[in-house]
Amino acid sequence: MIHAQLAAQSHTSHKTIVKISETVSFGGEEIVIIGGPCTVESLEQMETVAQKLAAAPVQALRGGVYKPRTSPYAFQGMGEDGLEILAAVRSRYNVPVVTEVMSIAQIDIVAAHADMLQVGSRNMQNFDLLKALGQVNKPILLKRGLAATIEEFVMAAEYILSHGNPHVVLCERGIRSFDNYTRNVLDLGAVAALKQITHLPVIVDPSHAVGKRELVAPMAKAAVACGADGLIIECHPEPEQSVSDARQALSLEDMVNLVASLKPLATAVGRNISELSGVNLKSAPIFCAA
Ligand code: PEP
Ligand code: MN
Repeated sequence: MIHAQLAAQSHTSHKTIVKISETVSFGGEEIVIIGGPCTVESLEQMETVAQKLAAAPVQALRGGVYKPRTSPYAFQGMGEDGLEILAAVRSRYNVPVVTEVMSIAQIDIVAAHADMLQVGSRNMQNFDLLKALGQVNKPILLKRGLAATIEEFVMAAEYILSHGNPHVVLCERGIRSFDNYTRNVLDLGAVAALKQITHLPVIVDPSHAVGKRELVAPMAKAAVACGADGLIIECHPEPEQSVSDARQALSLEDMVNLVASLKPLATAVGRNISELSGVNLKSAPIFCAA
C-alpha cells in the first residue's frame, strides 16, 4: 500500500512529461539517454564527452561537481569551477546538463548552471533538501536511496511535489542486498511497479547498479525492455583514469555502440530512441579536443 497523493497514478489521468530543454522531455514516446562522467574533471574532458556523444546520440550530459564520496579524503568534486565547465559546454553545444545538488546552500548556484538537479541516493530522504527543491523552478532527478523501499522512494517524490515542483523524474539505481558481486542490485521490478503506481517518468542508472562496466550494457537493455523512460550512464574519455567510479565507466566508443544496440529494443516495446542528439556540434568547440 503506497500512501502517495500527488505522485499517485490516480491523481491525474495522464502521464507526466518532464521537459528539460526545448527538445528533450522525459515520459513521452522517446527514451532519453543521459551520458557523461561520474565527475567533471576538466573542460577538455567535458568537451571530448560532448563531441563524441553527439554521435551516440545522447540527449543530455551528466557530470558531478559536488560529489557524495564515501571517504572524506577522496576527491569531493570541482564545485563552482565544475559548474562553470558544465555551463560552458551547455551553452556551446546547446545541450541540457544534469548535476547533483547535495545541500540547500548549493541549490541556487546549481539551478543557475544546470537544466536538471539530481538528488543522489544518499540524500533521497534529506527532507529539508526535498522541501527546498519543491520551490525550485527546475526539473529534479530523484535517485532511489541505497536501501529505500518503493514506498519511501515515492514519498520522497511526494515531498518535492507537495512543496510546489511537479517536474520530478524517478531514477532506479540499484539497492543494497546480501550479494556484493555487483555494486548494488538493480531492481527492475521497481521500475515496472513505479510506472504503475505513479504518473512520473522513471529512468534507470545501470552504472551505479552494477558497478562494473562489462555489466552495464545488458542491464541498460533490460531497463529499456521493462519500460524505463530513460537511462543515465557513466562514461569517460579514459575510463580507467576516471577520478571516481572508474570501474563502471564505459569508454565513449562503447557508449555510442550501446545506444545503437538499444534502438531495436526500444522499437520492440513501442518506444523510440531519438536520432537527434541533444549536443549541437555546429557550434565551435571552446577547447579543441583531439
Ligand atoms: C552519481 O550519479 O554520480 C551518484 C553518486 O549516484 P548515486 O547517488 O546513485 O550513488
Ligand atoms: Mn558515479
